Amino acid sequence: SVGAGPLSLGAGSRQRASLGEKLRCFYETRVRIPSEEQSGARRAVLQICSQLLSSLRDRLPDAPLRDPYPSGSLYDDLQVVTADHAQLMVPLVLEKNLWSPVPGEETIMNVPGFWLIRRENQEYYPRGTSYWDRCVVGGYLSPKSVLESFERVVRDSINWPAVGAALDCRVRPVVPSETIALEVQYETDRRLFLEFLPLVVFEDRVLIAKPHRLAEFTNVWRQSFREAHTSRLQRADRGDGGCRCLCLKLLKGVCKVNPALGKLDSGQLTAAVLAVSTRKRDWSPDDLAERFLLLIRELVGWLEEGCLPCPLDPKVNLFSELTPQEIDELGYTLYCALSEPESLLRT
Ligand code: GDP
Repeated sequence: SVGAGPLSLGAGSRQRASLGEKLRCFYETRVRIPSEEQSGARRAVLQICSQLLSSLRDRLPDAPLRDPYPSGSLYDDLQVVTADHAQLMVPLVLEKNLWSPVPGEETIMNVPGFWLIRRENQEYYPRGTSYWDRCVVGGYLSPKSVLESFERVVRDSINWPAVGAALDCRVRPVVPSETIALEVQYETDRRLFLEFLPLVVFEDRVLIAKPHRLAEFTNVWRQSFREAHTSRLQRADRGDGGCRCLCLKLLKGVCKVNPALGKLDSGQLTAAVLAVSTRKRDWSPDDLAERFLLLIRELVGWLEEGCLPCPLDPKVNLFSELTPQEIDELGYTLYCALSEPESLLRT
């Protein structure tokens, strides 16, 4: 069985202590981003964002939007290895009585974790009443169409070379791309990717215009658990001085530097740490190696089942966009790592 690696058989606290040291060393040398690098990246993001915002206001003066804001691990101290990406969140304002969210599992597509946004009351409020009616496809607000309308502005109507020259950096839209992204080179050897992410909020639910990985699921909005999951983990760490976020960053670092694990994303890893955190109370920094190993073991188990239930909504499987082959490969790599966890740190 999966739990029977030599370490779990009690090969001793000395071995675990040395794994703990290796994890800390890996963190210091590979995972942790120096604070000057982070602040440089944040500065570059801010410059580009303010440029984007004024262009959006010029080109789409009627579009009902809340103020866009930069977001992502760079802002939560959860980015690892290099400070090289951020998201610009662009909240759409939708009229309450004209739109309603329909859960993906209640549609013919049966995709929990994704939503359709239905246009309501067309008989009283005909098409055109809402600005966003221009992005309705087949009765539903289409994230693809929303993205396309922003894309026209971001990609085609901003003179990026001129903006770059004014800001002393180089900016270019990334093509082809599933979402809208800009590549910003802001120092000779530093570059970052800025993803432009439209979103809609219904009560406490955040839906983002980030497409499902499978082409057959079009026009569904992705529910984002990022803020909720991240803030829970950070709150728990603050409460007991625990090492949950450190563990998460180590896992993210390991997945970033091991190509065989590249398909595990931070959403899945955050959910994994949160799930283990609700069962295990003790996260003292001395238990780092033990918790890290436990997480690897649990991930192997979830991969074996092909299912990682979302801690905030268990009917959502956070592995649902992985292919069976990807799941096998991830499971195999992590299973091998159980008996020799150091292999994950040798890069
Ligand atoms: P990292 O990129 O691995 O360091 O992890 P992040 O926590 O910054 O996650 C960024 C990824 O999550 C991007 O691919 C986003 O498209 C996606 N994502 C999903 N929901 C959200 C959200 O609410 N905010 C942000 N910033 N990104 C989100």
